[in-house]
Amino acid sequence: MPQRTFSIVKPDAVRKGFTGAILAEISKAGFQIVSIKKLSISKPQAEGFYAVHQGKPFFDALTTFMSSGPLVLLVLEKENAIADLRKLMGATNPANAEDGTIRKQFAGSIQENAIHGSDAEDTAAFEIGYWFAGYELV
Ligand code: ATP
Ligand code: MG
Repeated sequence: MPQRTFSIVKPDAVRKGFTGAILAEISKAGFQIVSIKKLSISKPQAEGFYAVHQGKPFFDALTTFMSSGPLVLLVLEKENAIADLRKLMGATNPANAEDGTIRKQFAGSIQENAIHGSDAEDTAAFEIGYWFAGYELV
């Protein structure tokens, strides 16, 4: 059964003009795009999205960064989508990311790391619902 996951092309990658190249990697890896939209988010929206990281030392910088410019929100579908996207993204810190991963190719730092992907079924469901209404999911 196909599985859905949620992804973001983060503001650093959008700013650097990497959106198309990252979407091409996602597509090449066999993901279907269920829904896609580009928008700028507020700091409170970013804080709600990353609420699990509240209290961590990087929380304020992270939510400032995520609200610093346009990003691209994606709902993706394929067999084993959640784990496969995490593998395609590579390690959080691009210095530790494997060759060929999106973060190895496109990320600039541990914070400005080009892409987000849900890490489990429950977080994927929360994250899709946080950004997309049911009628936006074809
Ligand atoms: P994401 O949730 O964005 O897919 P991840 O699951 O690989 O990334 P998390 O531990 O969930 O990593 O951290 C969320 C985001 O917070 C990271 O992607 C990164 O942008 C930022 N971040 C994480 N750790 C640090 C850190 N030590 N310093 C600065 N920013 C960090
Ligand atoms: Mg995470």
